[in-house]
Amino acid sequence: MSSTVSPRSAVVVGAGVAGLSTAWFLLQEGVKVTVVDRRHVAAGASWGNAGWLSPALAVPLPEPSALRVGLKAFSSTSPVRVPLSADPALARFLGRFIRNCTHRRWQVALQALTVLNQQALDAYDLLAHGGVADTTWQDDPFLIAFAGESQRESMLSEIDHIRSGGMTVDFDLLDGEATRTREPALSGRVRAGILLRGQRSIDPPRFLASLHKAVVQAGGRVLEGDAVTGVDDTGDGVRVDLVDGTTETADVAVLAAGGWISPLARKFGVRTPVQAGRGYSFSMPTEGLPSAPTYLPGQRVVFTPLDGRVRVSGIMEFAAPDRPLNRRSIDTIVAAATPMLGEVDWSRRSDEWVGPRPCTVDGLPLVGRTESERVFVCGGHGMWGIAHGPLTGKLLTQQILSGRAPAELAALSPLR
Ligand SMILES: Cc1cc2nc3c(=O)[nH]c(=O)nc-3n(C[C@H](O)[C@H](O)[C@H](O)COP(=O)(O)OP(=O)(O)OC[C@H]3O[C@@H](n4cnc5c(N)ncnc54)[C@H](O)[C@@H]3O)c2cc1C
Repeated sequence: MSSTVSPRSAVVVGAGVAGLSTAWFLLQEGVKVTVVDRRHVAAGASWGNAGWLSPALAVPLPEPSALRVGLKAFSSTSPVRVPLSADPALARFLGRFIRNCTHRRWQVALQALTVLNQQALDAYDLLAHGGVADTTWQDDPFLIAFAGESQRESMLSEIDHIRSGGMTVDFDLLDGEATRTREPALSGRVRAGILLRGQRSIDPPRFLASLHKAVVQAGGRVLEGDAVTGVDDTGDGVRVDLVDGTTETADVAVLAAGGWISPLARKFGVRTPVQAGRGYSFSMPTEGLPSAPTYLPGQRVVFTPLDGRVRVSGIMEFAAPDRPLNRRSIDTIVAAATPMLGEVDWSRRSDEWVGPRPCTVDGLPLVGRTESERVFVCGGHGMWGIAHGPLTGKLLTQQILSGRAPAELAALSPLR
């Protein structure tokens, strides 16, 4: 669908990685941009995540094995949780999500993600060259550790699919001893590993602060502490109503409100719901924890060294984005990770955090124009918004300015 609008001003709703990246790319093209966030910069998923830019691992969430995990999701100790509640919207989401958990649909979605994966790191380089000071670290290889060969086999088959889509993935296989030698914090339970090269990571709070600063330096306005209550296409522009009673106007609006996007996007024909898949993290002193980025897929726990400490993250809890932090989810991460590590004093944790991954039923982001030629969406990035946020912001900017969706966005249309 093309557009006849050639915008000179934009309001972006949401100051996470998706909103700020889109704002930054729009500003580079001379568009006047106002970003509005109901709380503050990085108030959602973009703060406490694991910070991995790992195109080699970015596969669609609804995979055939999710059906098996799904049955276990009602257990209070499962790393994937669906709190038992009478929420019809959540039930509808899960029904549609499960219908996407077939091998064929997973492969179709993977093709679309592979196109993004191939360009994701280049978009970070553009930000760096454009003056976003705190960009990506070129890390040591990432370590993926397994309690057994069979767990590793399923990840290797995912990597095979990614490679057959044309992406280079550079890795070595390690046996248990070599994995533990590489990372002495791991316990004897670890029996196999993958040493994955060519990935990067960021420090999410520092990166978001730096992107915020770059947006302001490029002339963008960032309004914090003011929620958008409604967006309207007025025929010659957009009107954005704020909770404090004021209004912002512009030529176009970009909805980038993460796990909160659906109520704003629905009236513009976006019928693919975005459901919060809440993840948890906390910070630990380094003692006893991995010294390089490390992933335990069987336990769904990730370790990211950050600023002299280690961020530990995990859990996928399908529930409303604003529910309070559920302490049992933190305990579940600790219980899952403990057998795979040596001595760790978990009582020394701090910065316990929960945030909503904006998940879609088919595992693909929603990026592009809506039924209104003046209202666009950049959201639904699920598990991979840090990796894909800057690239999708860049591609959406091309669409907003040219009126035509770049080929990479064909499968991501918010109207699918
Ligand atoms: C534990 C965990 C680990 C993760 N690890 C990784 C990883 O290693 N790599 C990776 O690529 N991704 C990872 N992710 C996913 C990634 O964090 C998200 O996909 C990404 O941050 C989503 O960015 P966003 O800008 O769309 O949403 P958000 O960051 O949630 O931003 C949305 C913003 O919109 C604002 N907002 C909402 N409603 C309104 C409104 N009505 N008016 C104004 N503002 C509004 C919110 O306050 C918020 O600031 C992880 C997520 C979690 C939870």
